[in-house]
Amino acid sequence: MADIQLPMRPMEAHVEANRCLYCFDAPCIHACPTGIDVPAFIRKIADGNEIGAAKKILEANILGASCARICPTKVLCEGACVLHDRDEKPIEIGRLQRHATDFVNERGIHVLKPPQKKNGKRVAVVGSGPAGLGCAAELAQLGYEVTIFEKSKLPGGLNTYGIAYYKLKPQLSLEEAELVQDLGVEIRCGVEVGRDISGADLQRDFNAVFLGLGLGNGNQLGIPGEKLPEILDALEFIEQIHTNPLHQIPIGNQVVVIGGGNTAIDAAMQSVRLGAKRVTIVYRRSEAEMSAYEFEFEKAKNDSVHFLFNAVPIAFVDVEGHVAGIRLGRTHTAKSGKLEMIAGSELTEECDMILKAVGQEKQADILRTIFPSLQIGADGVAVRDSLTGATNIAHVFVGGDCANGGREVVNAVGEGKNAAHGIHTFLTGERASLPTQPSRLGVASGASGCGLHHPIRAHELEEQWKRARAAEDGGVTRG
Ligand SMILES: Cc1cc2nc3c(=O)[nH]c(=O)nc-3n(C[C@H](O)[C@H](O)[C@H](O)COP(=O)(O)OP(=O)(O)OC[C@H]3O[C@@H](n4cnc5c(N)ncnc54)[C@H](O)[C@@H]3O)c2cc1C
Ligand code: SF4
Repeated sequence: MADIQLPMRPMEAHVEANRCLYCFDAPCIHACPTGIDVPAFIRKIADGNEIGAAKKILEANILGASCARICPTKVLCEGACVLHDRDEKPIEIGRLQRHATDFVNERGIHVLKPPQKKNGKRVAVVGSGPAGLGCAAELAQLGYEVTIFEKSKLPGGLNTYGIAYYKLKPQLSLEEAELVQDLGVEIRCGVEVGRDISGADLQRDFNAVFLGLGLGNGNQLGIPGEKLPEILDALEFIEQIHTNPLHQIPIGNQVVVIGGGNTAIDAAMQSVRLGAKRVTIVYRRSEAEMSAYEFEFEKAKNDSVHFLFNAVPIAFVDVEGHVAGIRLGRTHTAKSGKLEMIAGSELTEECDMILKAVGQEKQADILRTIFPSLQIGADGVAVRDSLTGATNIAHVFVGGDCANGGREVVNAVGEGKNAAHGIHTFLTGERASLPTQPSRLGVASGASGCGLHHPIRAHELEEQWKRARAAEDGGVTRG
């Protein structure tokens, strides 16, 4: 199955890199939760130095190669590009990032080296998803001895098992986990914390613990017929694609996907690519209320995915033990904002396969099993300091989906990285360098396409960084 986003040819990358204005205090950097120094890496591509570009990217974001493929760049770095203000096409940052990281991956070039000296301190990381890998890579580069405990057979979390196959191949995710191992991090797969090893064991054997458990199974709808064999959770469906040969994946002719978020779009587009004849997304609210990104919605429409808005599932139609349709009721939003079903509006949508994309369960129970005194909010996620990931238990830090409720890969990596800095400060009293462009402190050097040549003092940059992170914390979840 071909990637939806094509790589750039070398000449195309060179031309695109030369369009960049290399802004000082560039908004594209602040829009990236991992603070990649975008103008610096693009300038290196323009200079023909792809290895230097990849180093810049990977130092800031160890999952730079997968983020280049799956990040919602149109609303993050590319969405912030100053070229929008000139009514010009923003720089294709995501594809340039892919160009640089592919360059080193394809040639087996290692741009990051483990630090020469360890600091003698040990940190346990629970979960090898983007949050855990982001935290571990940062800690390893600061000189820590890091062990990741992962309950699955393979590392990578949803990057290995959950991202739509046409966006990211699991092999790349595994190669990224190897990059983290190359920094000296040990990954112990097949070990479930809370079952095979306790939180107390980790507290005894390590100086600090980072929890990056992600979210749980898909939510249930709780309506009749839900156990029929052709009704799957979208995540389970995508996982099948990652773990079986494509020709063995069962796909219906008429697929209904339930949900209005990005996962629903992924499941629908994935079904089209596997050969479904008709794919319909059913969403209980209106088009305007969908949480999926606009650009993802447009892609699905281009893929001939149908949409049925304001329709809520009531029951699945069972014919001889197989799904034959879904009973729906039409809805409208009352003035109070509450969703109401319109009396007598029932209809049946015929289908032979259903994919549920209605969110994942929170991990409150397992978090409490690992650390019984860990503070969990009413929303089911761990309560933490938004900048450092510190929890109410000293030396326990948290980040990624299990703390933010489910956002994007780049948020998880950024939060893992911020927690690494929090752990470093907690254990040593020293501050690690700021994740965003520390080299740009003081008087600006070099040309600035934005015309911003004023000096920025360290505390101002830090305030900007904090504001950017705080704004990010108020952002929406994946839904
Ligand atoms: C279907 C789907 C599609 C998505 N598509 C995109 C996309 O296109 N772009 C994007 O940016 N984001 C996407 N996301 C969101 C993204 O995948 C997550 O935000 C990101 O993976 C969160 O990283 P994490 O490390 O917090 O959690 P996870 O990736 O879930 O990793 C958590 C890890 O912890 C392990 N673990 C859990 N409990 C234990 C335990 N007790 N002991 C040991 N290990 C444990 C798990 O096995 C897992 O490996 C998607 C999400 C879904 C569900
Ligand atoms: S033009 Fe400025 S904002 Fe756009 S990518 Fe280049 S540095 Fe970033």
